[in-house]
Amino acid sequence: MIFLKSDEEISLIKESAEVLGKAHAEVAKWIKPGVTTKQLDKVADDYIRDNHGSPSFKGYNGFPAALCISINETVVHGFPSQYQLREGDVISIDCGVKLKGFHSDSAYTYPIGNVSHEVENLLKRTKQSLYLGIEQATDGKRIGDIGYAIQTYVERFGYGVVRELVGHGVGRNLHESPEVPNYGKRGQGPKLREGMVIAIEPMITLGKRSVVQEKDGWTIRTTDRKPAAHFEHTVVVQKGKAEILTTFKYIEEVTKNTTLMVSV
Ligand code: MG
Ligand code: MG
Repeated sequence: MIFLKSDEEISLIKESAEVLGKAHAEVAKWIKPGVTTKQLDKVADDYIRDNHGSPSFKGYNGFPAALCISINETVVHGFPSQYQLREGDVISIDCGVKLKGFHSDSAYTYPIGNVSHEVENLLKRTKQSLYLGIEQATDGKRIGDIGYAIQTYVERFGYGVVRELVGHGVGRNLHESPEVPNYGKRGQGPKLREGMVIAIEPMITLGKRSVVQEKDGWTIRTTDRKPAAHFEHTVVVQKGKAEILTTFKYIEEVTKNTTLMVSV
């Protein structure tokens, strides 16, 4: 069942998303070589709780942390650990916040210091594909239009679109219907309606698209161990143009000297 959200519910999701955007920015301040991913998790957890929210992921199906932190060939669902960030890594930070009963969900991938040109392009283009997907999230279109836009854009660069993980509805539950794949055919899938709130989250690989799950039962990495990127926004479907409820504004105030510029 797909829940359509009222204006009041959407404004609550926006409130949650505001805390989420600022939590991301607090984490962004700490992303540098030598910092452990566990330290980053604590920064996010503290910020969210200090602002009256709770971290959506912590305890979700037993997930142990506020952040999913996925380095290099890890695509998503990495655990915070004692791993120390290194120059040349790419790090995806995925976070969810629950506030006043409503969740928001967003992810951002950062280069640590200098990364290769091909990795920098992977990040820029994955972010761009997110916005191309969001452009399709309008009343009357279909879920397949979103995936088609993402897939056709990234595949022209020879990248892989992860099939095993998808975006989702967001609301009182972190994961609601419908599923929002990052691949698809135009005009197929559930119809998008004004008031649907969905997380769109392309997970794009530099090499082959196939992934495996590590023995910890969570961590997803590329089979060929090439890097992946992940960007995510929670958006509300509207007539004409989707509204993006989450924000990268605060992140990019922190990273503006090294930020990945894309036109949106
Ligand atoms: Mg997420
Ligand atoms: Mg999500």
